Amino acid sequence: MHNEIRDLELETLTQGDLFLKIDRARLLKQFDHVLASSSFYQKKLKGYRDAASLLRDLDILPFTEKKELIDDQLQYPPFGSNLSVNNSCVRRVHRTSGTTGRPVFLALTAKDIAATIDSGSRCFWASGLRPEDIVFHCLNYCMWMGGFTDHQSLEATGATVVPYGVGNSSKLIEAILNIRPTAIHCTVSYMAKLELLLETEFKMDPRELGLRKGLFAGEAGIQNPMTRSRIEKVWGFKAMDANYGISDVLSMFGAECGCQQGMHFMGQGNIHVELIDPDNCRKLPFEKGVKGELVVTNINKEAQPLVRLRSHDVIDVVDHNKCACGRSSFRFKVLGRSDDMIVVKGVNIFPGAIGAVVSGFIDEVTGEYQVVAKGLDMVEKITVRVECGDGVPVPRQEEIGAAIKQEIRDKMDVNADIVMVLKGEIPRTGEKTKRLVRE
Ligand SMILES: [Zn+2]
Repeated sequence: MHNEIRDLELETLTQGDLFLKIDRARLLKQFDHVLASSSFYQKKLKGYRDAASLLRDLDILPFTEKKELIDDQLQYPPFGSNLSVNNSCVRRVHRTSGTTGRPVFLALTAKDIAATIDSGSRCFWASGLRPEDIVFHCLNYCMWMGGFTDHQSLEATGATVVPYGVGNSSKLIEAILNIRPTAIHCTVSYMAKLELLLETEFKMDPRELGLRKGLFAGEAGIQNPMTRSRIEKVWGFKAMDANYGISDVLSMFGAECGCQQGMHFMGQGNIHVELIDPDNCRKLPFEKGVKGELVVTNINKEAQPLVRLRSHDVIDVVDHNKCACGRSSFRFKVLGRSDDMIVVKGVNIFPGAIGAVVSGFIDEVTGEYQVVAKGLDMVEKITVRVECGDGVPVPRQEEIGAAIKQEIRDKMDVNADIVMVLKGEIPRTGEKTKRLVRE
C-alpha cells in the first residue's frame, strides 16, 4: 500500500544521495544474487568473481541488449537462462513485444510484484490519484504489464479501480455515464478515439462525462504542450503523464507531479539508472538540459535481474533541482526511441518533434499524424501524413500542408512531403498509434 511519508523520504533524495544511501548497498546485494543464480550473467560477466568488483566497474560493465534476452529465451524457453530463482518461486508471467516481434516473457516473484507496485503506486500518487477517486483502467490486460500489474498499482493508492481493459469503447462510455468515475487511465491516442465516438455516436461533449483527472501511459504525446492543452480543453480535466516505465526492468518509474514540468524519476530503491550518449555510449550527467539514453540496472529483483539494460529511450533531463512539489528526483521528458530516431541527411529527427509541429495547427487538424520514412539506414526522404479537422476546405488544407512543411524545414532543417488525409484515416488502436512507418 502507498505510504506517503516513507515515499517522500525516497523522493526527496537527489540522484547523488540516492546512490550513496540506497543504490550502492542494494547493488552489492543484487550482484551477489546475479553472480550466484543467473547463468546468463555468469557467462556475460565472466571474469568477475565478486559483487564488489562489479560495483567498482559499474560504469564499464557490458550493456545488456533486449535482443540478447530474446535470443536467450528462444534457446532456454520459456524464461531464459537469466531466471535466477526456482520455477516454483515465479508468481506471475507477463509478456512484452520483442524488437523483432518475438515476445519476451517476464517472470515475477512475489517480492518482484511488490516492488513493481511500490514504484507504480508512487507514480500514480504523484500524478494526483487519491483514495477518494474512482478510476477507469483502460489498458490491455492480456498478458501486458500495463493491464493487471498497473491495476494493482492504481489500487495501492487507495483509489477505486474499474478494470475495463481495451476495446468495447461504446460500452465504456455507457459504463462511465453510469458509474461516474473521477479519473481515467489510458493512452493519449485512445482519448482521440473516444472523442470521435462521443461526437459521432453519442452526440455528446467530452466534458459531459465529468472526468477530472486524465492519467496517461505509454506515449510521449502528452509532453507536447499543444496536445496537452487541447486535451485539457476538450475534456476539462488535468492531463498527466503518469506512467513511464520499461516492463523488462520496472513497469513504472516515471510520472509527473502537479507542476507538469517533466516526469519525476520514481524508481528509487528498485532500479539504478544511468544516462549515456547513444552514439558513443559515453556516460552523461543527470543535469538540466542533458539529453541521452537511459540505461537501467535492477537493484531489488529476484526473478530476472537485469544489469545495464540499454533502454534505447532518449530522454531530456528537464531539471535536477528541487521541484516546487518538494521532490528532488530529476525530471525528464522522453524524446523518443533511439531506434525511432530517423537520420535524414545527417539530421536526427524523432517523430514526436514532427507531432509538435502538427499540433500547432490544432482545430484545423486532429493532431493525428504518421511519418513515413523511405529507406532503412539511409533515409532519403520523409512523408508526413496529417489528418484534417472537420469541414476544412481543400484550399485551406493545402495552405496548412505548406505551412507544416515550412515549419519542419525551419525547425529541423529537413525537407518533408506533407499529405493531408481525412479525419479518421490514420488508424487508432487501444494501444499506441504507430507514428513511424519505414518503407
Ligand atoms: Zn514535482
